[in-house]
Amino acid sequence: MKLDCSISQWRVVPDQPLKLKKVPTKIEPLFRSTEDYRAKLSEFRAEISRWQSLLYAARQQALLLVFQGMDTAGKGGAIRHVMSGVNPQGCQVHSFGPPSDEELEHDFLWRGVKRLPRRGMIGIFDRSYYEEVLVVRVKPEVLATQLLPPALVQRKNFWSDRLDDIRQFETYLHRNGTKVVKFFLHVSPEEQRRRLLDRIADPTKNWKFRLGDLDCREHWQGFQRAYQDCLQHTTTKPSPWYIVPADNKRNARLIVSQVILHTLEKMRLELPSLSAAQEQDLITAKHLLEDNPS
Ligand code: AMP
Ligand code: MG
Repeated sequence: MKLDCSISQWRVVPDQPLKLKKVPTKIEPLFRSTEDYRAKLSEFRAEISRWQSLLYAARQQALLLVFQGMDTAGKGGAIRHVMSGVNPQGCQVHSFGPPSDEELEHDFLWRGVKRLPRRGMIGIFDRSYYEEVLVVRVKPEVLATQLLPPALVQRKNFWSDRLDDIRQFETYLHRNGTKVVKFFLHVSPEEQRRRLLDRIADPTKNWKFRLGDLDCREHWQGFQRAYQDCLQHTTTKPSPWYIVPADNKRNARLIVSQVILHTLEKMRLELPSLSAAQEQDLITAKHLLEDNPS
């Protein structure tokens, strides 16, 4: 299954300048009707689920999917809709909110490391260690809670070093069999405003609303600058970023699905080969079962 467009247009290319403002948040629908959208999504889910079974059986590699975006960008919805066909035993979702006291007493990657997927699994991060170069960078009061030695924080390269740390961490994961793919769900401030108003108007969505979400709107430009720097410096060939136009949730979900599928296809997943002893066991078991019908 493939969409009528190439996913490489949304991949952030390493070592090239990026102007986030020029990247669209809205594109023409990638589906003809609601039925067509549902049919496409369900075909993607089925294919992702087949590959996930193979990933699980092979137990050599892991896949980590990172979702980032401003509030209301649709991270949770994308995760729910795209991954709902996957065997829950092979997939774990973690949401990262403000760090706990214990987490603040460790280095910034610590809490993410604890939740990395083991071999055979798909790990999904709804927000991630990337918040450390996003909200922590944009809001100095958040950095102030991090218990770091002042001399370290005052260094000129503090943020570029953090970006480097993340890039190297992902290189390390790649060299250990964990594939990392990152999605930035790119929404416009106008669409975010509509979605926030919707959360206020719809009683079933009230629980999602927090006054702090408005605070982030005041820092919109700061966040966009932080995202731009982050996407540009942490996209690599093995661990790429995709900027997903997310003003239309259905488009975003189809693009995310296609990227996940493409990634799984490239992972060279194969059923594990059996040892001679395992093959012999199968023959023995077959004979035993055939000879003893009751
Ligand atoms: P939500 O995704 O709507 O549940 O919100 C989670 C909140 O946690 C967001 O406001 C994030 O900015 C915040 N958050 C996530 N990671 C960190 C972090 N490392 N430091 C501070 N705040 C964070
Ligand atoms: Mg929120």
